[in-house]
Amino acid sequence: MADRVEIDRVREATNLVEVIGSHVALEPKGREHVGLCPFHDDNSPSMAVVTHKTQAFYKCHSCGASGDVFKFLMNYLRIDFPEALNMLAERAGITLSTRRSSPEDRERRSMRERIRNSNDAATVYFQKVLAHPEHGRTARSMIESREISDAMVSDFQIGCAPSGWDGMLKAIGNRPDAVESALAAGLLRSRQERSGGDGNYDYFRNRLMFPICNESGQPIAFGGRILDPEDNPKYLNSPETELFNKSRTLYGLHLARKAIMDAGTAIVTEGYTDVIACHQAGFRNVVGTLGTAMTDEHAKLLSRIADTVVLLFDGDEAGQRAAERGAEVMLRHPVDVRVCILPDGTDPADLLTGSEGNESFRDLLDRSEDVLHYMLQRFERSIGKNDSMSGRQHALELFIGELGRIGLAGVHGIRKSLLMNRLADLMNVSLGTIETMLGGASDAHRTAPIGTPSINPLVDTDIFTVSDRTLTRARQLAEKEYLGVLLFEPEAPGREAIPLLTQECFLDGRTRLLAAELLPRINEGKLPTVQDLHGEVSDDNILELASHLWFLGERQVTEPTDEYDPRSPLQRVTEALQACMDHAHTEQRLAHHKTSQKDDPGAVLDIIQHLRDQGPRVAAIHRDERS
Ligand SMILES: [Zn+2]
Repeated sequence: MADRVEIDRVREATNLVEVIGSHVALEPKGREHVGLCPFHDDNSPSMAVVTHKTQAFYKCHSCGASGDVFKFLMNYLRIDFPEALNMLAERAGITLSTRRSSPEDRERRSMRERIRNSNDAATVYFQKVLAHPEHGRTARSMIESREISDAMVSDFQIGCAPSGWDGMLKAIGNRPDAVESALAAGLLRSRQERSGGDGNYDYFRNRLMFPICNESGQPIAFGGRILDPEDNPKYLNSPETELFNKSRTLYGLHLARKAIMDAGTAIVTEGYTDVIACHQAGFRNVVGTLGTAMTDEHAKLLSRIADTVVLLFDGDEAGQRAAERGAEVMLRHPVDVRVCILPDGTDPADLLTGSEGNESFRDLLDRSEDVLHYMLQRFERSIGKNDSMSGRQHALELFIGELGRIGLAGVHGIRKSLLMNRLADLMNVSLGTIETMLGGASDAHRTAPIGTPSINPLVDTDIFTVSDRTLTRARQLAEKEYLGVLLFEPEAPGREAIPLLTQECFLDGRTRLLAAELLPRINEGKLPTVQDLHGEVSDDNILELASHLWFLGERQVTEPTDEYDPRSPLQRVTEALQACMDHAHTEQRLAHHKTSQKDDPGAVLDIIQHLRDQGPRVAAIHRDERS
């Protein structure tokens, strides 16, 4: 692990707007940049990227996502901290000392790096072969016959692997390092493993090549389709590597992400060519699983950016299993799953050809069914055309039993009642009946507990709830504005020689925790920025509050509420908080007097006079709060 100094060096050498801007379109607005937040379904640009003075952090005003450049990459690309650090160090041309990392860590990281480079080189190589007059001819004619446009060939970086056993091997040449990396990436195979012979050979031969990218568009693996109908298997994927995990990867997601977020819907299909055909026809919210049914990891990826997932598949037995799997996934993740069955023997590419292709595809999508409805129908079919009461009852029991088995009983809260209501509607029975049946089903089929209820933590975090209800809103605001100004101008107390208030002045739970982090740092003469805190504090609630308050501080400093007020922003917020504290103190004394029943009119009058003196200051805070 790199040390603090190195992490800071990398952070300082990194332009946050550039890094975020390479994933999200950003526009300058005032002192900030704004863009659509990639962490929730954002319709208006809710994410601000602040690079004011020494600050560099992002903050979504809608879902609350916030952090520094490391956190952005970790959450956006779903990578760990060392990876994000390496990525940024490389970008900035900084060589990290890795003296503190374990040899295994170093080995693993350098292996990932080498696989990455190997994949990059292979992508370029396959594209070159495709363009080659002779070696790329068959592949080009397949692309032509499938009517894949040039734009798609370029967007999806399609290429081709030449026939023969050593095309790539020769291209790599006599570089033992590169050969080793290509072996680790699964692009080359060792003969030793296959036949006990010497040397290596190309893993992908005579195939149309589809790079499989991670969310940032980096190739992490390849899929190859045969060019010669005699070859098999028809599709071949790279083996799983340090970078590539099939059940966690969706083909085309880096190109589909924005469209999925815009539509709120993700369409999931099977093959590379299905995905490409859809994108070409303008359906850009389409991704592909890599020959697996939808997994929990897929659902997790998609439920972050879509409300609805449409599974597009054949109506055969495999398709039915896929539907079942889809229902299971829906019960575990906050996403609606719909099922869309393709006409017999067709794939999306077939449907989309011809002048009416888009329309018939849209029709098909419109006819997609709720996965629960789809499964219910299937159960009804499975008991035959039996309209008798007992027949129908049997179907319902089977169905509920099945849902209980795959996890309905483990769904929590509102989501469960929504699902049960939907079931009652679908089956035309009362909610009570469903509950009774499900109760039985879950008892009879109690299985391992379902994973934690899938609630989006970003949306459900209400970091501004105050635990202490006796705290006045004026006091809360004064505490927050005070910290806000310190976050915006940590140098102000030193510059203006205003003593800092102490942590005890903060009553609001989370504000107090933030004060406990911030005030000592300023006292020690550090000038902590929001991103410093992100590097040093692990409590997300505090970090979210810090970025939120920075904006509050910005407003205090740059948009003074009263232009005739000669006080500096820090002076103003300090006095406002002190006024609140005095006020609270006086009220306490008053309350004390009342309860102790002491007959001391003089003292009570004193207190009342004191309260009157403070009146205007406290009233001013109330006014600010409303504006
Ligand atoms: Zn957001």
